[in-house]
Amino acid sequence: MDVPTLVERARRGDPRAVARLISLVEDGSPLLREAMAALAPYCGNAYIVGLTGAPGVGKSTSTNALVTEYRARGKRIGVLAVDPSSPFSGGALLGDRVRMQDHATDPEVYIRSMASRGHLGGLSAATPQALRVLDAAGCDIVLVETVGVGQSEVEVAEAADTAVVLLAPGMGDGIQAAKAGILEIGDVFVVNKADRDGADATARELNHMLALGERREPGAWRPPIIKTVAARGEGIGEVVEALEKHRAWLGETGKLAGRRKARAAAEIEAIAVAVLRRRFGDLHGDSRLSALADAVVAGEIDPFAAADQLVEHA
Ligand code: GDP
Repeated sequence: MDVPTLVERARRGDPRAVARLISLVEDGSPLLREAMAALAPYCGNAYIVGLTGAPGVGKSTSTNALVTEYRARGKRIGVLAVDPSSPFSGGALLGDRVRMQDHATDPEVYIRSMASRGHLGGLSAATPQALRVLDAAGCDIVLVETVGVGQSEVEVAEAADTAVVLLAPGMGDGIQAAKAGILEIGDVFVVNKADRDGADATARELNHMLALGERREPGAWRPPIIKTVAARGEGIGEVVEALEKHRAWLGETGKLAGRRKARAAAEIEAIAVAVLRRRFGDLHGDSRLSALADAVVAGEIDPFAAADQLVEHA
């Protein structure tokens, strides 16, 4: 199938075309550029919600419950599960998102996992590209769930309009979260597994930590903390309300446009840097970079001048 046909079918909601386009992203296909150009006019309508948190807190279960809640509200939903820690596509971790099977046959729900870091610009470019496909396919909401851990978890959350950080009692999560820099990126906090002992304590600890870093200016967003039992769908309606509230706040303050612009800038930069790096030849160990490195080692040129030469001729 050629790219214009794929894009046309994806826009009409054909799940196979959507899947194929996301595969182009995952594989870093030579057709990707054409696909992105064709998709560009149809993007910007989906609202992107990121879900992040330590393995086992209940991200997958929560995503499933959120899909149920949004479907009840008549929304078309995309789910993108990204594994930032895996450079391979089709990882076993992602192949087995069993709890999403509830929605596997719903034509208004697109579920897709992506394990590859993409080829050009890495994960920071691959995620927004995949989101664009789901956006153009008419999704009202796209849930981006990170699977696996790593610093790039934050990167994935940053691809969202609203970032949800999940914790669960009894995992020392408060402290873990602070270490990973995740408190800073959370717009909405969820303490899941509220049916277990210690949920109140986790919520209190989190509240305390958020208060320490709180921004006091008037009109600032105060991230809510919501207790859920995702496994039973409890509290999920409240999470959706909080997401809607945050979305409204972003809109009223003009921050939604700001966030999206910052994301586009980061995406362009990631692609541009990847293109330059490729031209420098350091991926293949050949050419100009290698010659300049020899010259620096030999003391014929300093590294600043060498870098200037490299950039000038890139
Ligand atoms: P993820 O690794 O963050 O995606 O976590 P999962 O959604 O796979 O959930 C991890 C485990 O916690 C599974 O066995 C779930 O059934 C369980 N779980 C999820 N939500 C709840 C909850 O609200 N209460 C309890 N007790 N268990 C839950």
